[in-house]
Amino acid sequence: MSRQRDTKVAENHHRADELADVWRTALDRMRPAVGQATFSGLLSRSRLLLVEGDRAVVGVPSEFAKRWLEQKHAALLCESLSEACGRLLEVELTVMDGGDRRPEPIVDLPSEARTEPAVKLPYDEFGATPLNPRYTFENFVVAECNRFAHAAAMQVAKAPGRAYNPLFIHSRVGLGKTHLMQAIGHMVKKRYPHAEVVYVSAETFVNHMISAIRDGTINAFRARYRRVDVWLVDDIQFIAALQGPTSEEEFFHTFNTLYETNKQIVIASDAPPRALRLLNDRLRSRLEMGIVADLRTPDLETRIAILEKKAEAEGIELPREILELIAKRIETNIRVLEGALMKVCAYVSLTGEIPTLSRVEELIADYSTAASEKRVTLEEILQAVCDRLAVEPEDVKGPKRGRQLVYARQIAIYLGRELTDNSLAAIGQFFGGRDHSTVLHSYTKVQKMIEGDRRTAALVSELKAALTQS
Ligand code: ADP
Ligand code: MG
Repeated sequence: MSRQRDTKVAENHHRADELADVWRTALDRMRPAVGQATFSGLLSRSRLLLVEGDRAVVGVPSEFAKRWLEQKHAALLCESLSEACGRLLEVELTVMDGGDRRPEPIVDLPSEARTEPAVKLPYDEFGATPLNPRYTFENFVVAECNRFAHAAAMQVAKAPGRAYNPLFIHSRVGLGKTHLMQAIGHMVKKRYPHAEVVYVSAETFVNHMISAIRDGTINAFRARYRRVDVWLVDDIQFIAALQGPTSEEEFFHTFNTLYETNKQIVIASDAPPRALRLLNDRLRSRLEMGIVADLRTPDLETRIAILEKKAEAEGIELPREILELIAKRIETNIRVLEGALMKVCAYVSLTGEIPTLSRVEELIADYSTAASEKRVTLEEILQAVCDRLAVEPEDVKGPKRGRQLVYARQIAIYLGRELTDNSLAAIGQFFGGRDHSTVLHSYTKVQKMIEGDRRTAALVSELKAALTQS
């Protein structure tokens, strides 16, 4: 009897292992295709619970995760799991028991509280995450690409609620939004030790809001928020893209409550307010009411300076040629840049040697921009723009000047400059032998349109996303 049970346990154990393996493989496939917040907030907290015939059941951490993944990533989940399993699967999502709870906090609770998962700490109700101690102003390298955002953040940290409200920071992924936002948090806490600083991702905010509604504690949830002095909300594009008005409404409500009592609000997003898919236009205009600052890609010198600072923090001295090489290979994402540096640092501390340049090349090959980011060609851009705007490629390249055609041409040229390394002259050449001043004109024209016209902003960000996702 007991023998039998042992076998059974072993068998289950084995299956659990297998499921975990399959899930890991699927995760690897999904990672490049979803936003970082979705990945770390939802997918990496989910588990493959069962595969039976052609049915797979994935346990997800919350109702929100379930809805979000079903709406946005159903096909991706199905594809990735089918590939990982080697057969076509239908995927079901289910909210796991104890979903929506954070890992047990490291505090000493009375022993009965430990066994009682229903106990909630104040920290839990906010879903607030502690600030990362490394994300300070001291550790932030200021350069052309971030000077304005940095200055605005400093102002806000010095006079929360009085300088600019809200401060809206946007950029592509890995360029320092979270770092800058948390730097504000650190500085405020230092200067005003009693201030309540809350850093929360929009996704977590929505999760907690939804559980508060479900548990009938929404009033308490709101009341807690009234005591916040500085509200740092990260990755707000998640609120914006959510279907259904509840989360946006609740966000708007919290925003207004804090705003009207002169509390500081700082928001980070992967797109400017104009390009967010919001249901509520009043929310959009409120987001723009303070100051909107973007972070751009750092140039080579800045990337080297960032690497120097990080290497110094790691206590590892690397020759400048190595830092230069890493900075040359990785152009667009500071997080990836750091990853490559860490790999080289690991090599140094494991072998006790400074690697040669060609060894460094090998070490960081996986991180280099060419490998990690899909290269976009002018041809692909032309094709995508034509598909989307229903015009013909040869007309875009040709001399015709219909309204729709000119618009398509300008958008394509803009994307050509944003997404490829081609020179203005080469872009002009490709788009029917136009000269470089025409290219520049189109580029600035679209830049202005993005700021002034929501349709163009949305179109451009949609095309960008489609072109750069592999
Ligand atoms: P985002 O939120 O825009 O995706 P993060 O704030 O997470 O980007 O930044 C990614 C990494 O790059 C972090 O480790 C951060 O410390 C680092 N980083 C970004 N900008 C700078 C900078 N100007 N100076 C130093 N480190 C930076
Ligand atoms: Mg971030």
